[in-house]
Amino acid sequence: MADILSRFSAHYKSNFIPIFLIYTAQSGHYSQTQEPIMHPGSAPLKDWPWATMGSLKYILYGPLFAKALYTNFGGGSEVDNWCFHILLISGLRCLVCQLWLTYSNMHFLTKTYKIRKHGVEFKQVDREWDWDNFVIFQAYMFTAAHHFFPFFRDMPLWNSQGSMYVILLHIGPAEALYYIVHRLFHQNFFFNRYHSLHHASVTVQPSTAGSITFLENLFLTCITAIPILGSSGLRGGSILMLYLYVLCFDFLRCMGHSNVEVMPAFIYRCFPFLKFFIYTPCYHGLHHVEMKTNFCLFVPLYDYLGNTMNPKSWLLHKSVRNGQLDRVPQYVFLAHVVDMLSSLHVPFVFRSFASKPFTTQWFLLPIWPFTVPVMFAMWAWAKPFVHTSYLLRDLLHHTWVIPRFGFQYFLPFAQEGINNLIEEAILSADSLGVKVISLAALNKNEALNGGGTLFVQKHPNLRVRVVHGNTLTAAVILNEIHPDVKEVFLTGATSKLGRAVALYLCKQQVRVLMLTASTERFQTIQKEAPVQYQRFLVQVTKYQAAQNCKTWIVGKWISFREQNWAPCGTHFHQFVVPPIFQLRRDCTYGKLAAMELPADVEGLATCEYTMSRRIVHACHAGGVVHSLEGWDHHEVGAIDVDRIGIVWNAALKHGFKPV
Ligand SMILES: [Zn+2]
Ligand SMILES: [Zn+2]
Repeated sequence: MADILSRFSAHYKSNFIPIFLIYTAQSGHYSQTQEPIMHPGSAPLKDWPWATMGSLKYILYGPLFAKALYTNFGGGSEVDNWCFHILLISGLRCLVCQLWLTYSNMHFLTKTYKIRKHGVEFKQVDREWDWDNFVIFQAYMFTAAHHFFPFFRDMPLWNSQGSMYVILLHIGPAEALYYIVHRLFHQNFFFNRYHSLHHASVTVQPSTAGSITFLENLFLTCITAIPILGSSGLRGGSILMLYLYVLCFDFLRCMGHSNVEVMPAFIYRCFPFLKFFIYTPCYHGLHHVEMKTNFCLFVPLYDYLGNTMNPKSWLLHKSVRNGQLDRVPQYVFLAHVVDMLSSLHVPFVFRSFASKPFTTQWFLLPIWPFTVPVMFAMWAWAKPFVHTSYLLRDLLHHTWVIPRFGFQYFLPFAQEGINNLIEEAILSADSLGVKVISLAALNKNEALNGGGTLFVQKHPNLRVRVVHGNTLTAAVILNEIHPDVKEVFLTGATSKLGRAVALYLCKQQVRVLMLTASTERFQTIQKEAPVQYQRFLVQVTKYQAAQNCKTWIVGKWISFREQNWAPCGTHFHQFVVPPIFQLRRDCTYGKLAAMELPADVEGLATCEYTMSRRIVHACHAGGVVHSLEGWDHHEVGAIDVDRIGIVWNAALKHGFKPV
């Protein structure tokens, strides 16, 4: 449901490349060999009739909605109050899928039992945007059946005999037909034109279940109709049966596509015959990897009879449930929550919304009050948790979150608790065998823990390297300054980044107007510069001093009045969080220091706060570079100005790109 809401804001479309993969159960890794691109192009009945309507397709529910309103509130009458029930069923079907999406994206709950460690890609989120098309279509097909088939009308609320018919008709003809049709769709002709869309998603998600072409949906609707209409024809139909069957059907399809092994091993140990009657997420996950096996809908019996059961199915299930495929990350980025609204920008709330840069959207407004009790609950109980992950050169990278919001970092009485949480995360990373943990934004606040120094001094024997990543942040800021610039105005001049920027620029013979009221702090920094360059550092105490300087580097929040001192045509570089308001129309504004991840990053479908896709804050990139280079030092406290060039070149060498 949330996915539906979020798609109102935009509508992405992307092409896809079918991929064949081979899964090796022993290693726990997938290798992949790419087939020639088999673009389905236009084939009869491939596209949905409303494919060009975008979000306007929800208007299609309008007639059902109007009829339900008229029946229940306008004095009309309708057999079975049908439109009301079919709308409610449609809403519940979307809810089932959304709940599964939420669950499978809660990495802190599911990471141990994740089947495939590769995360979902942005292009998959875009491709699966219309996963709920089948719900709209089936609502109308069932409504048509209700209109035309007398035996499918005037149904009682419940008929216990009917439930037996439904089970038998499902396990018998419905499953058998699905198996035959599914194998047919794997013939080259049908696969290339139709079924390759579903198989383009190798790391499956509950929404992958709905990522099918129109023709496949026609068959799926017929298969769903067999137990529903069949039991009604045998006088066993009931309204509740309709709810139960359709929702169980969706539940099991989503479960099979959840990429989380939820079926406990003991069930199959105690009742081995169940291996023939109910599949597992591993079982269907294997079908997306080794496509000549595991064709069944939910009942593996047909694969057994058709000799298509993958012999690794139950070994894989056992391995995943025993946690044998769980992996330790090489690198952890330790983030925190920014504010109430952006706390909803996570894949387990709105996957599609989290796949785009954070902006305030209308659909967040009614739900943001729910974040308040969650914030208090996290304050009371929560521990650092896993937020997202991706792979770089087959090494697992995680983002963990300190369960604290931005404002809490400024409450004096909350600071000790926050440091304890950061320390806990560092020690946990250390014991797991993580190589590098880098501290994001306020987690390395100078006033809070001296840019991470506190933890390194308290635990001198840490194996994990603690990194603030600001050396690369400084490099990115400096790289954005045009080589011809001879004078800059710097606010936040005595901060960690301000100091490094000033010291670096003065050596390039750039005059730096350092705004600070403290002569003592200014002189301390000035003395660090080589004597011949000290004259390039100039202390200023008022914004007026910069009224002729067109390069401002803003490290401390400035108001409109202060911005007004800048001459027309000024460019505001900035390293201040949150960024300053862009109030001057005659000036330009830089963004927060960031870099684009290397092209070989896999399994990333979440935007980092307001950053565009595959762009991360420079301090995040700095931690990754530290890990890839295998540097053995902690990067905490003051920035080593001599390393700025080294870190920048290493970032470029590893494929990071300036934004
Ligand atoms: Zn298939
Ligand atoms: Zn599938």
